[in-house]
Amino acid sequence: MPYTVPKLTDYSAPALEKAANECISACTAESAQVRTDADLKSFRDRWMARKQGILTQINDRWLKDAPKEAKREAGIQVNALKARITELVEAAHASGAPALDNECLDISLPGVRRPIGAEHPVVKTSNEIVSVFGKLGYSVAEGPVVETDYYNFEALNFPPDHPARDTQDTLFIAGQQSTPARDRLLLRTHTSPVQIRTMEKMRPPVRIVIPGKVHRNDPPDASHSPMFHQIEGLAVDTSITFGDLKGTLDHAMKALFGSSVRTHFRPSFFPFTEPSAELYVTCFICGGKGKRGYDPCRPCKQSGWIEVLGCGMVDPNVFEFVKDNGYDPKKVSGFAFGMGVDRLALLKYGVDDIQLFFQGDVRFFEQFG
Ligand SMILES: [Zn+2]
Repeated sequence: MPYTVPKLTDYSAPALEKAANECISACTAESAQVRTDADLKSFRDRWMARKQGILTQINDRWLKDAPKEAKREAGIQVNALKARITELVEAAHASGAPALDNECLDISLPGVRRPIGAEHPVVKTSNEIVSVFGKLGYSVAEGPVVETDYYNFEALNFPPDHPARDTQDTLFIAGQQSTPARDRLLLRTHTSPVQIRTMEKMRPPVRIVIPGKVHRNDPPDASHSPMFHQIEGLAVDTSITFGDLKGTLDHAMKALFGSSVRTHFRPSFFPFTEPSAELYVTCFICGGKGKRGYDPCRPCKQSGWIEVLGCGMVDPNVFEFVKDNGYDPKKVSGFAFGMGVDRLALLKYGVDDIQLFFQGDVRFFEQFG
């Protein structure tokens, strides 16, 4: 006989408890009988359906019909019972016993194909650049993404009132008002702090490239991202000249973009280099013509030249911060350069929105696999 909800005449606690226990054992027994998904559905409906389900009937017969003085006790018992029944129903699952008969194993079927991942275009570009300098004898240096004001600005010759130190441009860690300015933590705005950190640890000569993530307080749009990637390079030795800088970068650009590219330096300003320059290469998309067929070349804005990096001779003031480790500005000289990897990847792959690199859409990334 399937379980039906009895009408109660005795509302004493022991009687309620007995009725509740009967109900629970009926539910437990029925849940053990569930085999298929259809069984499961009718089992759930029978107990939980809002209109005629057993829980609804219990509510009506045991609670609503209870005499006034027994309502409180009945309420407690019914609520506990409802919770237990709900647990039992939710735990019930199709055991699948009959379905097993239809299952068999075909060992000749091919295995599950797992798609092979590919390098992210930004990582790939970064690795290519690192490898070009690796062949020139540069080693890779890395440093923390959360930096102090000292390493990010002060030791790189940024004056105290430099606009880059403003929260409009730099993301500072909150709640540091009482910390001395030079110890305040921030998300590094360039990979340059690693230059100082390396020179503190290594005596000259130094030849390093520094790939890594950097942050600026920029709202995301097609050409900006609050997080992006840089590669910087630093070479320090006795008698390094601007000629070494030009020769090294000219070689690197030819290795990266093809032996036909030409390079061109224009004067610029950075606090940590003097003199400073921007390096342009002939547009590797239109070959320096400024046009693609009859169409204007957008990446180089029809100029035939693309700015790829900033560079310069290390400012003697920067060496002053690491003078005690063998970097006497009177004895050593060096050059530094830095480039935005994401921007180069955008140009190289003809992508017109930097956000695509960070949104994780597999359909976009499959193109690079
Ligand atoms: Zn062009």
